[in-house]
Amino acid sequence: MTTGKVIIISAPSGCGKSTIINALMNEGGINMQFSVSATNRAPRGSEQDGVDYHFLSDHDFREAIAGDAFLEYEEVYPGRFYGTLKSEIDRIASAGSNVVLDIDVNGGLRVKQALGEEALSIFIEPPTIETLRQRLESRGTDSIESIDARVDRARYEIDQAPRYDARVVNDDLNSAVEQVWAIIVQFEVRKRVGIFGGSFNPVHTGHMIVASYIAGWTDIDEVWLTLSPENPLKRRHDGATDADRLSMLRTACGNSDTLKVCDVELGMPRPSYTVNTLRFLRDRYPECDFTLIIGSDNWKIFDRWHAAEEIIKEFGVTVYPRPGYPVDSRTLPEGVAYADAPTVSLSSTFLRQAISRDMPVRHMVPDGVEQYILQERLYKKPEHEAQQ
Ligand code: 5GP
Repeated sequence: MTTGKVIIISAPSGCGKSTIINALMNEGGINMQFSVSATNRAPRGSEQDGVDYHFLSDHDFREAIAGDAFLEYEEVYPGRFYGTLKSEIDRIASAGSNVVLDIDVNGGLRVKQALGEEALSIFIEPPTIETLRQRLESRGTDSIESIDARVDRARYEIDQAPRYDARVVNDDLNSAVEQVWAIIVQFEVRKRVGIFGGSFNPVHTGHMIVASYIAGWTDIDEVWLTLSPENPLKRRHDGATDADRLSMLRTACGNSDTLKVCDVELGMPRPSYTVNTLRFLRDRYPECDFTLIIGSDNWKIFDRWHAAEEIIKEFGVTVYPRPGYPVDSRTLPEGVAYADAPTVSLSSTFLRQAISRDMPVRHMVPDGVEQYILQERLYKKPEHEAQQ
């Protein structure tokens, strides 16, 4: 899991920024959550504590500064403080979402400078300063002095706009939303995908633990459980058909956002070399950065894999531990990472044998998979053989 990227949206007050952000949030499709800032200003109109801002007293805001609770904070207007709470970022990042920061230009530029490529900064601007003043006046929530202060501030902010990654003029709301959306999609959609290949005959809890550990604990966003083709002439009781194994994998992954089933190898020429699969996927999904996930047992013999060096160089490899095959992560070459996933000493061979002898496998395979195996009578010897 990446901790999520940071999308900084800044705009002079009254530019329609909140409306644009709300529209983006409601649109769906991009995994992002709004970081609720803290401020010592009073709620305006229908604003709610904990939703629009965490409204703090002067005293509490100062305490939060002293307690190092802020990633950044600014005195955006004299005596009016606004700050991004570290706890908000942690909350959102731990959910694996991108974080949307609605912050002023000073805060925005500071966060961008600190995060570099991990952050996208977008500046939304009014068509003209006059339109901005009119919008603030028609909003009817601010005094004349406050409007003057906001317009002065807007001039300063617009001067900083060229330092943002992207600028959007909010002339027409729908078009502004669309433009911001397109900019975010272009930035956000790059995903790091780990290819976890196997026969999954059947998929078991050990596979799922490794896959979820890697998707949840490393910089890999998604793990694609990639089914390798079996000899099509194999009899069903030796294993299961490609369709069975695919069904079981689909059941195991369910609707997970981070664990996906990949069946491309089933349609590729045999023998199916991993390097070809990775290159095929790279061409087919240009928005993804693919890498290979293998167990430490395979790592021991990886130099015998077809185009092993190319795989490491072009894609990188993540090795997870397998019982009986210890790896010293310090000795791994460049391009090879170690994922210290919990190990479960469970194998598909063991499960097939257990099932053929009617031994229970509850919790050793995902629930739906157990049902599928029983229903389809997989891994059972045919009646005539069983009687022998
Ligand atoms: P408003 O009072 O109109 O809600 O917000 C005033 C300004 O404060 C806006 O430019 C907004 O982007 C900025 N702001 C809101 N939250 C934060 C924050 O957490 N940090 C910083 N630096 N600015 C913020």
